[in-house]
Amino acid sequence: MNIILLGPPGAGKGTQARKLVDERTMVQLSTGDMLRAAKSSGTEMGLKVAAVMDAGELVTDEIVIGLIREQLELDNGASGYIFDGFPRTLAQADALGELLVGMGENLDCVIEMQVDDEALVARITARSTCGSCGEVYNDNTKPIPADEKCTNCGASDFQRRADDNEDSLRTRLMAYYKQTSPLVGYYYAKGDLKSVDGLASMDDVAASIKSALD
Ligand code: AMP
Repeated sequence: MNIILLGPPGAGKGTQARKLVDERTMVQLSTGDMLRAAKSSGTEMGLKVAAVMDAGELVTDEIVIGLIREQLELDNGASGYIFDGFPRTLAQADALGELLVGMGENLDCVIEMQVDDEALVARITARSTCGSCGEVYNDNTKPIPADEKCTNCGASDFQRRADDNEDSLRTRLMAYYKQTSPLVGYYYAKGDLKSVDGLASMDDVAASIKSALD
């Protein structure tokens, strides 16, 4: 099964993708994680995209499509994929369709996670993640434990993303509405779209995704 998690920054795509990976034999492909890894290891591409990412703008289609193509070729379509944060433009959506057809695969479902902007600002500016396993924390609703050890993996490497500030977030939201939200209509027209309330509790969102997929 191949699915896309679609939604604005902070909608909870990464959190839900990790839950799906734990529950099903699927592989999470997050272009944001791949780009952050390139940025922190200082590759030529990572250096090129760093400023664009920090400002909250979109990296070029060519770069992200290349990253996804590489991963799919490495895995040779063996796994079911959860595309998290990809595609973000119509050109990326077309490219993904072609890549899947080339592997003899289908796109089974696109889950749109609906959330309101003000909730996103509150969520994102309070967000930190475990650098080791990606568990997400929130200063208000799920603070970092007093012993500073991740509840999921025990590591003590909490990080805040450089682009999780209000200015970058406004730019990321603008990019979402201008460049990514047309994908809602694109996949609706293909009959692939299911929408869930991304503001519900994490477990309720997971349950809605489960019923959309089963
Ligand atoms: P994310 O972790 O998905 O929020 O992505 C973080 C940042 O990486 C975005 O704000 C973009 O700068 C860049 N990025 C991630 N995925 C894409 C994509 N599919 N297309 C363009 N830029 C992307």
